[in-house]
Amino acid sequence: VRVEDKLYQNRYLVDAGQAHIKVKPHSKPSPALLSLIKACPAHCYEINSNGQVEVAPDGCMECGTCRVIAEGTGDIEWNYPRGGYGVLFKFG
Ligand code: SF4
Repeated sequence: VRVEDKLYQNRYLVDAGQAHIKVKPHSKPSPALLSLIKACPAHCYEINSNGQVEVAPDGCMECGTCRVIAEGTGDIEWNYPRGGYGVLFKFG
């Protein structure tokens, strides 16, 4: 089974209006922020037409990669989704 097929089994309950990850406002992205575009396995980070990094955390698997890379540098704010929201993993 391919990883993509397994990921397709995940379900997400999106907490609309309460993003659990926020990118801090910036005019020019830091190297840490830029690295998230490639580092996030769910491709939640993108660069917009103004050259700023944006996050769309709807498909976030809560793996913590971006938290390890960019929370300590102050580039992002990361919290677990509220209870009941976020990724739902299916097993088996
Ligand atoms: Fe991507 Fe993982 Fe960060 Fe979620 S926690 S946005 S899946 S790197």
